[in-house]
Amino acid sequence: MPHSNRPPIAETATSPRRIQYVNRIENVSGLPPEQREALREVTQRYVFRANDYYLGLIDWNDPNDPIRQLIIPRLEELHDWGRLDASDEAAVSVAPGVQHKYPHTVLLLCNEVCGAYCRYCFRKRLFMDENDEVTHDVSEGIRYIAANPAVTNVLLTGGDPLLMSTRRLREILAALRAIPHVRIIRIGSKMPAFNPWRLLDDPDLQELFRTHSTPRKRIYLMAHFDHPRELTDPAVEGIDQFLRCGVVCVNQCPLIRGINDDPRVLSDLFRELSFIGCPPYYLFQGRPTAGNEPYAVPIVRGWEIFREALRIGSGLARRARYVMSHATGKVAIVGVDDRHIYLRYHRAKDPDLRGRFLVYERDDAALWLDELHPADDASPRFEPTSLLGVDEGPE
Ligand code: SF4
Repeated sequence: MPHSNRPPIAETATSPRRIQYVNRIENVSGLPPEQREALREVTQRYVFRANDYYLGLIDWNDPNDPIRQLIIPRLEELHDWGRLDASDEAAVSVAPGVQHKYPHTVLLLCNEVCGAYCRYCFRKRLFMDENDEVTHDVSEGIRYIAANPAVTNVLLTGGDPLLMSTRRLREILAALRAIPHVRIIRIGSKMPAFNPWRLLDDPDLQELFRTHSTPRKRIYLMAHFDHPRELTDPAVEGIDQFLRCGVVCVNQCPLIRGINDDPRVLSDLFRELSFIGCPPYYLFQGRPTAGNEPYAVPIVRGWEIFREALRIGSGLARRARYVMSHATGKVAIVGVDDRHIYLRYHRAKDPDLRGRFLVYERDDAALWLDELHPADDASPRFEPTSLLGVDEGPE
């Protein structure tokens, strides 16, 4: 995918970089003035944020440039479509900023800011003024986790935790490490894509990770690269630095129309990620979140893209699972034939649904589990009980 009009990415780990944030669409110089004006209304509903490094990856001569699709608003976002909390995350909030859906894992929503805002974000409600789902004071969450010995995994999320100061991160990591049953701390972050220098230029953060990612209690980076063009030299150096600090790196991203809904692009992404030590973990079906209609890919099409991407790839590049984060659990899309769509609960909120195999009528337009109709003639071809509990063992 050569893009000769893009500026070269010259910065390296040895060249500290001060990112300039761009918070107003009016200040995006690559867009013609009339487009900036037209998109202002979109940014009044769904906030815009970018930075000079990331905007510099865009080929402005290509209206379909994937990086542009990811970060520049579109008028279609204003269509009346979807819900702000499409997976009912509010239903699993046990305290402000604390989500507990599966026995072993607690989410701490500790920050409501990101390095830039992905247009297809499923948590865009957190960036709105009326949001009260994020808390900067995680003490209640820490007490909740300490009182629940089954919780072995804590995911710091938001927003982007790596937008917090290193001092705050130190307090949170130290508090979590003081709880003996917390083994894995995951940090969900797109900063390695938006601003690789967040880690490269901060020796204190590097030291913090070295201290708290130990042989028996690792920190995991749940990175978020959506397109191989995000894997610039500084981004790859950034992942290398995480690895050198003892952080285990994996990638999770949604399937997004106009960005990575192409088997070749997805396969390139998965392969490159596996080469740099950040193999793919989850590929998410996009949630039907308000504003996200222009980014939606139907389940059947998504399955075809995913299957083809895995076919082209090899080894660790094929480790991804294609899942829907539904209100009832994490549902893996495991097959499609001419009549049916086959799903299985990879994780389930209700213990009775764990590992449950599901067969639905094929619907090529369906975008989400709620739009599918159960098949009533598919049971002879599959034995659902043989799959029960496959992925629900102790972590
Ligand atoms: S980095 Fe994650 S939380 Fe932030 S805007 Fe992108 S998808 Fe949303």
